[in-house]
Amino acid sequence: MRRLLSLWPAMLCLVLCLGCATDSRRDEVARVIRDHVAKIEPLSKRANLVYWEAATTGKAQKFEEHAELQLQIRRTYSKPSDFARVKALRKCGVRDERLARQLDKLYYTYLQNQIEPDLLREIVELDTKVQQAFSNYRATMDGRKVTMSDVYTILTTEMDGGQREAAWRASKQVGNTIVADFLKLVRRRNQAARQLGFDNFHTMTVLAGEQSVRELDVVFDGLDRLTREPFAAMKKELDETLAKSYGITPEELMPWHYHDPFFQRTPLVYELDLDQYYKGRDVKELSRRYYAGIGLPIEDILARSDLYDREGKYPHAFSHDVDRSGDVRVLANLQDTERWMETLLHELGHAVYAKHHDPSEPWLLREPAHAFTTEAIAVFFGRLSRNAAWMQQMLGLSDEETAKVKQVSERYLRFQQILFVRWALVMYHFEKALYADPDQDLNRLWWDLVERYQSIRRPPGPVDAGWLSKLHFTSAPCYYHNYMLGELLASQLHDCIVRQALRLESDEGLSYVGDQRVGRYLRENVFGPGARYTWNEMIIRATGRPLSPECFVEQFIR
Ligand SMILES: [Zn+2]
Repeated sequence: MRRLLSLWPAMLCLVLCLGCATDSRRDEVARVIRDHVAKIEPLSKRANLVYWEAATTGKAQKFEEHAELQLQIRRTYSKPSDFARVKALRKCGVRDERLARQLDKLYYTYLQNQIEPDLLREIVELDTKVQQAFSNYRATMDGRKVTMSDVYTILTTEMDGGQREAAWRASKQVGNTIVADFLKLVRRRNQAARQLGFDNFHTMTVLAGEQSVRELDVVFDGLDRLTREPFAAMKKELDETLAKSYGITPEELMPWHYHDPFFQRTPLVYELDLDQYYKGRDVKELSRRYYAGIGLPIEDILARSDLYDREGKYPHAFSHDVDRSGDVRVLANLQDTERWMETLLHELGHAVYAKHHDPSEPWLLREPAHAFTTEAIAVFFGRLSRNAAWMQQMLGLSDEETAKVKQVSERYLRFQQILFVRWALVMYHFEKALYADPDQDLNRLWWDLVERYQSIRRPPGPVDAGWLSKLHFTSAPCYYHNYMLGELLASQLHDCIVRQALRLESDEGLSYVGDQRVGRYLRENVFGPGARYTWNEMIIRATGRPLSPECFVEQFIR
């Protein structure tokens, strides 16, 4: 019976479509797409320009204007009649692959916005309330207000266990103040997803990103297996070092003894001060020279960018594709440090990807294959700021200095990558379980996962909703797995460039400096096609195999 029922839509489609000639359907698809782009392209460009003004000036009025334009865009994608048309056309299929691909893109964007108006309003209001409460919250320690930078300073320098614990607990307070509204939001999101026929919001979001929970489970299970032992060995060594520095035993270490509130970054015990090599250097000029050398010149991008600190300006960094026609910009607040070198290389990675989408592709396909594929390119270039061979060539380090950087950097990178896998495992499994059943004992679940994957002991006494102090639960729901996939793809592309484009046996001492083949490979295989193929197909075409953890494991774990 169930089988018969599931055949129904297909049969209905057959009946509806038998009559219509392929040509007229092709024309209809082309018309729907043309009408849609005619509406959305100017709106999207305006929204992007207004956002740029908002971020570079901090003017509240520009942020409001941007929110209004965003709402207009969302409304375009929420019309049930338009969605029904796109859905019907997609079900019947169209032979032209480029049109079919555009129809897919439309379908998934419409899908996520098909929420009945009252429920949508409730979701948007709750979401705004939670996000505002999150950003306006000020933590306190012994009654006085502390910022997150104060917390980081204490967690990286303070030796007194009591002070560390107080700072760590302060960083978690915000979770408890927003958890009730946040769980209300989770239930409403699930309600909307169920109305569209999904188990829950997590399943729907993953599917709308053209991914599947089953495939993600396979990737994360594999990563768990591959990192378990190397992580245990590194963690043991780290615990001994940390415990010794605090004058306690490794068994007495608590979550606040690590240098990051979530233990997602390596404690500073193995750090070499790389800033000394970037002091007095012009990171913008270094980037310009490097990207030009690999055949991806960025003069035009830099000319439109806003790169230095100013009152009222957004304090972090991002890359911004304004019109999918070459107006790409970067916002940054550059300083002569290793972190800013990494950040600029990273954002320019996003920027060169956007700049080189093939202009003959239709507007809907002139974007990255997936959010994680552009993240992969950004990570690919960002990793260079700590690469000893790259630093030697770009900064003119002596052989002796290079050897020192290499030794520390490789060890640090290995630890950082393995640690990130363990942390991403916690985030992925927790968020999946959170949306599957928001009524379970989530605080206990969080610590079960932290103990299992990160080997951090839960604090004594009742556990609270400190987990919700992680920004991503509120700002980018069901997205975290993409950071992990980006790391995997960055390694797979690196391996492919080494072996196929450069025909080398290994990456020993490889810096990519001045090698135009790197830019050519990326332009032809990754940037140019944009979203012409699904991410999966793009990766197979570019690297000869589907996305797998193999190269990442080879590069960092073995
Ligand atoms: Zn990025």
